[in-house]
Amino acid sequence: MNTTKHGVVPYITAREGEEADSFLALRAAFDDAGHSRLAYWDEVREDRDVRGVLWARVSQSIAADRLPAGVPKWRLVHPARQRECMLTLRCQVCVDDARTPEGILFLESKKDGIFTSSTTIRTAQPPLCRRHARLAAKRCPYLAAHGHVALLAQSAPLYGVIGTPHAYGAKGIKVLAADDTPVPYGNPALRWFLASQLVRTLRSFRVVDLDDFIQAAWPEGL
Ligand SMILES: [Zn+2]
Repeated sequence: MNTTKHGVVPYITAREGEEADSFLALRAAFDDAGHSRLAYWDEVREDRDVRGVLWARVSQSIAADRLPAGVPKWRLVHPARQRECMLTLRCQVCVDDARTPEGILFLESKKDGIFTSSTTIRTAQPPLCRRHARLAAKRCPYLAAHGHVALLAQSAPLYGVIGTPHAYGAKGIKVLAADDTPVPYGNPALRWFLASQLVRTLRSFRVVDLDDFIQAAWPEGL
């Protein structure tokens, strides 16, 4: 978390000056099974996630305190920082461990529907620690506009990724139209995919009242 002249800026928020890598960095290659797939010319291990999917490269503006710096691009999420928080279940604001003895806290928008324990929820929003859940509910424009639902999940297995499909044709690599639909791990389409957000499924969750939940942890207040 950075508290600066911009206020509290979540760790995952993209910053001005952070730039996507050139399209020319991409090439076609073959995986170990002989399938063609998208790759980088100078690929390094961090370019692929734990399931071998290629990720979009975006530079990072990191200050001397090792936290992101620069004017926030509020509506954009940095792919590597989103992936880090989502993979390790860390708070999207402060990067502290978001796992608690009661479960993992996620905030969803009420606009996305009524959540019951039988609803399948897939989310690209990393969890929040108690300290930042209330802040996010108030400050996130989408949550503030539509209202939030706080969900305490007992587990949140990895599901897949959101990103941009690519294809290889007569003129080389081309970018296909993207939407925000998560593509599950194991789908062959992911060989030609450039991921930008990691998605988990929320399991065994219950809806909690955020104020009650925080109050229970800190009866004296923050
Ligand atoms: Zn936090």
